[in-house]
Amino acid sequence: MKRGIVPGTFDPVTSGHLDIIERAAALFDSLVVGVALSPDKGGGPLFSAEERVTFIQDATAHLENVSVRAFDTLLVDFAEEVGASVIVKGLRAMTDFEREFQMAALNWRLDHHVETMFIMAIPEYMYLSSSAVKEIAVHGGSVRELVPDAVCDAISRKLSEAR
Ligand code: ADP
Repeated sequence: MKRGIVPGTFDPVTSGHLDIIERAAALFDSLVVGVALSPDKGGGPLFSAEERVTFIQDATAHLENVSVRAFDTLLVDFAEEVGASVIVKGLRAMTDFEREFQMAALNWRLDHHVETMFIMAIPEYMYLSSSAVKEIAVHGGSVRELVPDAVCDAISRKLSEAR
């Protein structure tokens, strides 16, 4: 059985992430979405790990071979722990390439049993990122269609609580 893993911070999950998850799910018998706790990324995540996991679980409920788990270890160790042999990453513009190339090389050095593969973002989501979504929402713009509806509502709630 081939198991893949799609890692990320997913703060919050976007339609771009979900497109990659859906396409990766079609390539593997089973797929684990790994939610990195990333307490220090960008001044700390907006959503807790539990919230981020729940958003992805709800948005992937129709995909029977997808499960979602939080992790706080080296990615290759988490991959070994869940029995995944392939790390799947989404690639947007060339700006992703440098960082992803470095991470893939380092992960290969750490564990030769875990391969990294890339799926190209579709043009519609090429410029979509969790940080752009938060930036738009903070300034009162609409993020509908860029994230699942439940996430859209949760961002509005979170931002109004913070005000
Ligand atoms: P972000 O870069 O949005 O903060 P993450 O750290 O959660 O997101 O990224 C997890 C993975 O998802 C990375 O491999 C990243 O390149 C990929 N990804 C993020 N946004 C998109 C998108 N719009 N289309 C395809 N892949 C994406």
